Amino acid sequence: MSKLIQVEHLKQYFPVAGGKLFENRVVKAVDDVSFYIEKGETLGLVGESGCGKTTTGRTLLRLYEPTSGRIVYDGKPIFDSGDVPLTDENGEPQKDAAGRAVCGPKTVVNMMPYRRRMQIVFQDPYASLDPRMTVGDIIGEAIDIHKLCKSKQERHDRIIEMLRRVGLNSEHANRYPHEFSGGQRQRVGIARALAVDPEFIVCDEPISALDVSIQAQVVNMFEELQEQMGLTYLFIAHDLSVVKHISNRIGVMYLGKLVELADSSELTFHSVHPYTRSLISAIPVADPRLSRTRQRIVLEGDVPSPVNPPSGCRFRTRCPYATERCAQEEPAFRVVSPGHYAACHNLEQVK
Ligand code: SF4
Repeated sequence: MSKLIQVEHLKQYFPVAGGKLFENRVVKAVDDVSFYIEKGETLGLVGESGCGKTTTGRTLLRLYEPTSGRIVYDGKPIFDSGDVPLTDENGEPQKDAAGRAVCGPKTVVNMMPYRRRMQIVFQDPYASLDPRMTVGDIIGEAIDIHKLCKSKQERHDRIIEMLRRVGLNSEHANRYPHEFSGGQRQRVGIARALAVDPEFIVCDEPISALDVSIQAQVVNMFEELQEQMGLTYLFIAHDLSVVKHISNRIGVMYLGKLVELADSSELTFHSVHPYTRSLISAIPVADPRLSRTRQRIVLEGDVPSPVNPPSGCRFRTRCPYATERCAQEEPAFRVVSPGHYAACHNLEQVK
């Protein structure tokens, strides 16, 4: 497989408005995050609310303009702040004749040609659909923006085909969003994303607002669509038990940082970062014999403010393994084993 998306040293800072306490401060929503997504794979992104996973998804689509970093889509930079060293195929920084790191040119491309190829399914199916438009018009609007159909008949056929793909039918095209259940509305949101024939979809907590009974159906539908259409997903969720089923690899975020990234089963059974361990220990186990032997790791305290994050390792205020070094030095995101990365000074001590 080849890389469809590369995100390098991505930062997304937001200014904090109002309040003397926060004057001239920024929220470091995403802070120096790097990862790639291969064509046809699903990368899961998990973490607590406010950890930066939704901002990461929206920033790589450039729905938010990045503060700095580089985003490469299908081999072409769609954003480059011009101060991030280029790397070779082994991930090593490229150097010029004088041994200095080489950066790419500052690049901010027009995203219109990419909007068709890169789509998003939003979390809230109630808020993401215009209540004044019929479902047919909602899907048709996306087709019209990208001028994908030459005739009304072709447009109509395409709308019906998209509804069929998500388990709805032609009768649904003339109805309004309020006439649908939550699960059906999310299917409409997915049909709208599919209508422009995308390659890549950011699935931004697409099942969080749905009944538990509907969640599995929608997850299965995402998997079937991926197989039929060769789609690539960034699947964002706070529930690791859902993400591990649909993802090939999983990244774990905490307070704007990526703290661990690995193959889905490697992360589930051999995670090394204390934060990931705590998330995995919170997944309910059906077998009571296993739940007796598995130790639940309960984190103390709340997630600190991203306006004023802790020095060194951002997880140190809640980490049972924190040492003096953790307060002084930020841990590097380093290789644990092939394809498995984690940011922690004390991996050898984590049990
Ligand atoms: Fe915990 Fe220190 Fe590792 Fe951070 S670097 S996760 S504080 S042990």
